[in-house]
Amino acid sequence: MANPQIRTKALADVLDRTPRFPEVHARKISEFFGENVFTEDAMRMFLTEDAYYAVRQAMHHGARIDRKLADQVSSGMKEWAASKGATHYTHWFQPLTGLSAEKHDAFFEPIGGGRSIERFDGSMLVQQEPDASSFPSGGIRNTFEARGYTAWDPSSPAFIMGRTLCIPTIFISYTGEALDYKMPLLRALHAVDQAATEVARYFDKEVGKVVATLGWEQEYFLIDKALYHARPDIMMTGRALFGHTPAKGQQLEDHYFGSIPDRVHAFMRDFETEALKLGIPVKTRHNEVAPNQFECAPVFEETNLAVDHNVLLMDLMEKVARNHDFRVLLHEKPYAGVNGSGKHNNWSLATDTGVNLLRPAKTPKENLRFLTFFVNTIKAIHSHADILRASIASAGNDHRLGANEAPPAIISVFIGEHLSNLLDELEKSIKAGKMPADLKTELKLNIGRIPPVMLDNTDRNRTSPFAFTGNKFEFRAVGSSANCAAAMTALNTIMAWQLRRFKEAVDARIAKGAKKDEAILQEIRELISSSKPIRFEGNGYGEEWVKEAAKRGLGNIRDTPRALDVWERKETKQVFADMDVLSAVEIEARHEIELHSYVLKVQIESRICGDLAQNHIIPTAIAYQNRLIENVRGLREVLGEAAAKKAGATQLKLIQEISEHLGEVKVQVDAMIEARKQANKLEDSREKAIAYCDEVKPFLDRIRYHSDKLELLVDDGLWPLPKMREVLFTR
Ligand code: ADP
Ligand code: MG
Repeated sequence: MANPQIRTKALADVLDRTPRFPEVHARKISEFFGENVFTEDAMRMFLTEDAYYAVRQAMHHGARIDRKLADQVSSGMKEWAASKGATHYTHWFQPLTGLSAEKHDAFFEPIGGGRSIERFDGSMLVQQEPDASSFPSGGIRNTFEARGYTAWDPSSPAFIMGRTLCIPTIFISYTGEALDYKMPLLRALHAVDQAATEVARYFDKEVGKVVATLGWEQEYFLIDKALYHARPDIMMTGRALFGHTPAKGQQLEDHYFGSIPDRVHAFMRDFETEALKLGIPVKTRHNEVAPNQFECAPVFEETNLAVDHNVLLMDLMEKVARNHDFRVLLHEKPYAGVNGSGKHNNWSLATDTGVNLLRPAKTPKENLRFLTFFVNTIKAIHSHADILRASIASAGNDHRLGANEAPPAIISVFIGEHLSNLLDELEKSIKAGKMPADLKTELKLNIGRIPPVMLDNTDRNRTSPFAFTGNKFEFRAVGSSANCAAAMTALNTIMAWQLRRFKEAVDARIAKGAKKDEAILQEIRELISSSKPIRFEGNGYGEEWVKEAAKRGLGNIRDTPRALDVWERKETKQVFADMDVLSAVEIEARHEIELHSYVLKVQIESRICGDLAQNHIIPTAIAYQNRLIENVRGLREVLGEAAAKKAGATQLKLIQEISEHLGEVKVQVDAMIEARKQANKLEDSREKAIAYCDEVKPFLDRIRYHSDKLELLVDDGLWPLPKMREVLFTR
């Protein structure tokens, strides 16, 4: 029988814990910030002047580094790493499986005669061949080349984790196809830089470069390690597949504004210190809505670096949590009945002249620039909402999107009342053809009148997946466990694509004799009109919105396998190919990998669910039922048949109820196994994923329903799995 003592022991362990505050640092944050990063300051100290400038050129302008200089860079990097106590190095990369991957090699190398040296030359820095056969390639390597390699990405600085020098790299096949998250992201950032720079130059010829900025907000749950280990479902899938909703959930909202518990505070301080040493500018921390849910957010950064920092932080959180007897749950929906976790992606574009292109400004000229980028963003989302939807699709996020706590699966844009009115006004007042001078003046005055104070108040609608928040857009539908690179690659690609269209259209108007400002205004008016359906200011959680969105022709794709269909469309492939972000082959491979990963996730959940139902829940319910049967038998012996019937009425009823739920659990588990068998027979990845989604997944809820009923009926002392109230409220 399942062992209920494990649960009792786990609970006792949790109550015994004391917070482990890290030793107080006398040092100010500014003194240790970035100390484990090969920053430009460190480079200046450890590199030759030639090597330093070569790396700088590579970092800021994507210049190549020749072999001789690479040797100098690697030698300096090795000295720096050694001065920090590092003994190993690794190429750190982000394969499509999720977090990060690394393969450690020692600097140390025996040279015969019982002696050794520390070696790390340019070739080891620039390129490495991980044993990559186990990383997903969606068939690319089979078709083209047997192996892939990792290549140094100088735009993200090397850092030290533990005693290992980590070199950020991209992971590509020998034929040049991207096998990771980073390569397409870098290409998308390049595309948006080029397209946005050209448009920004309509307003300021000095602009030479535009970077996309990203500020993510990471939500997560903490669970004590003892409880985690007593819940095989949470341990293996990251979420609870069983457990009756506790009497008290998040209704009181007392957690959100509550003080952070000591143990958690100790953990946060510890991982934040490590994060700061790695140059991750973590700044805010607070409780989230659900019990044991928290959030951490850094100051925004250039997108490539911000993505690396998020991946690093997720890694770091899991490592540091172990020192505090916690486990981190990054899953989008660990517990039914309370809020799930997301990762808001705050995004904007900034020029090398120090301008945030999505910040409304004081003068009409600057505001025309703001409107240009603002309206083009809305149009990009309007034209390519399905691409954005696919970029955030995952088995975990399916539980969260549209669950009345997170943005719906319908992509729309919220911009606030003031800006809505402004766009509507502009749409009406800009006349096609030549505009009279007085109208132009009036327009400019209108545009010049965007009061910044009002903008700070725009964002009161938390139900929108893509909201303008005063000086940036906030993409709120990203999942908590996701690599931001997927969403950022999609967003920056469609933005680049839209800005290109815009530039072409404006230039065409100018060629036909329109003045620049007028051409821009008229093009903006067109975009305002055609992108109107994507703008929505109302309640995104409401049923009316689902109907209204359907009327407007907006997509409402509720599950991952179907959201991924967009990768098969000709237009999608065209956009990514035009922007040089992903080739058709790369898109097909990604599609394949994502479908496969979806199937694996649901398959694992289904297996764990079946196992727990059969090995824990059914035997426990039978044990309790046997007790009741014994009891009724005893009553019969003592009181006689007739009196026992009355005295044992409750027991008999319980026996009956337990039998019914037990029977259902068993029937559903068997049917689920059968559905899995059928799904496994399917060869086509898409068909298989849909079978898992439609035919296998629904059993999880049915099995849970009956198991949770049993949890309520069975004696608490026998129940082997920590209950939801214990998982959520014990600390
Ligand atoms: P919340 O969404 O929890 O209310 P905020 O709106 O204050 O929190 O979120 C601010 C986030 O937006 C921070 O992570 C911040 O770094 C980021 N941010 C601010 N300005 C920009 C920008 N120009 N580009 C990208 N991110 C930004
Ligand atoms: Mg936010």
